[in-house]
Amino acid sequence: MPYDSYPFELEPLPYKYDAMEPYIDSETMYYHHDKHYRTYIDNLNAALEPHPNLQELTLEQLLTWTRFLPQDTYTKIMQNGGGVYNHSLFFKCLAPPEEEERTPSGTLLADIIETYGSFTGFKRAFYTEALKVFGSGWTYLVYTRQGKLKIINLKNQETPLQLKARPVLAVDVWEHAYYLKYKSARSEYLHALWELLTYPVK
Ligand code: MN
Repeated sequence: MPYDSYPFELEPLPYKYDAMEPYIDSETMYYHHDKHYRTYIDNLNAALEPHPNLQELTLEQLLTWTRFLPQDTYTKIMQNGGGVYNHSLFFKCLAPPEEEERTPSGTLLADIIETYGSFTGFKRAFYTEALKVFGSGWTYLVYTRQGKLKIINLKNQETPLQLKARPVLAVDVWEHAYYLKYKSARSEYLHALWELLTYPVK
């Protein structure tokens, strides 16, 4: 996959910068994608540049086979590789707003109803967890190794791969994801996101 190994490239947005208006403004989308996301890519490439053996690994392998990472670059690779992984998924979890509420389908919807009672119950639980992130981080819906749905909070650029969990939905709760429009009101950003969130991982 072209965006999955060294040298990593900036994966283009699958929509225009203004596609999520008015819920996410185009300036935020531009800075988030072209500046923040790109910085993780540039820093990951710089960390891998002196390590030809690591350049053979995919992003998932780098973040999972952590015993192969040299001590002096471990933190750089985990932080920046995590940033690349999380953002790549986050931008795919957004789709332009529609008139009807967008809900998951199939097995995922059935698992959500079994675990949270209803889609509304899931949204409430996800929102509550996302508000708890202290400082910078992510809220994810994942399937655990036991195949159960779970909402987890991750610090900074940790990824679900470190927990051997399979991601379903990634939500960026770093301030840069919402500050230009919502200022400190993370709750308003989280409410608005339901107009956009989609479920790319089946
Ligand atoms: Mn971000």
